[in-house]
Amino acid sequence: MPNYNTHRTFNYAVFVAITVLLYILIGPALSAINLKYFLALVAGYYIGTDFITPDLDIKSRVIRRWGALRVIWLPYMWIFKHGQSSHNIVYGAVVRMLYLGIIVLGVYYLIFRSLPPDTIISPVYIIIFLAGIIIANALHVILDTLF
Ligand SMILES: [Zn+2]
Repeated sequence: MPNYNTHRTFNYAVFVAITVLLYILIGPALSAINLKYFLALVAGYYIGTDFITPDLDIKSRVIRRWGALRVIWLPYMWIFKHGQSSHNIVYGAVVRMLYLGIIVLGVYYLIFRSLPPDTIISPVYIIIFLAGIIIANALHVILDTLF
């Protein structure tokens, strides 16, 4: 299976290639895209490439990148065997985001004794951000499948 840096190189190369290709094919139409939407996608893609990857199911370099926070992924590692459902291209990323989302909301609730208001971040940005993670995770699974 490809290592962490191979996955990163592949993901960023695909992202740059698709962005350049879209710019060449429909350059003027791209200016109609909200820059904030694009940045939300880039942020999600970066997180999905460098931090929230299918390889969180094993002691790996991506786990070490979480530093002290890596303990939150221990139960995930115990639940999901390496290379199986966590590497499912359809629901692997969704399960990871639900897992992390529950932890983040739980910590938020413990601190503020309420859930975050809807107005903190527009749902559109959250959806685009999550789409970036899903796309990056899908490319990880595709590369794992190829090699
Ligand atoms: Zn993998």
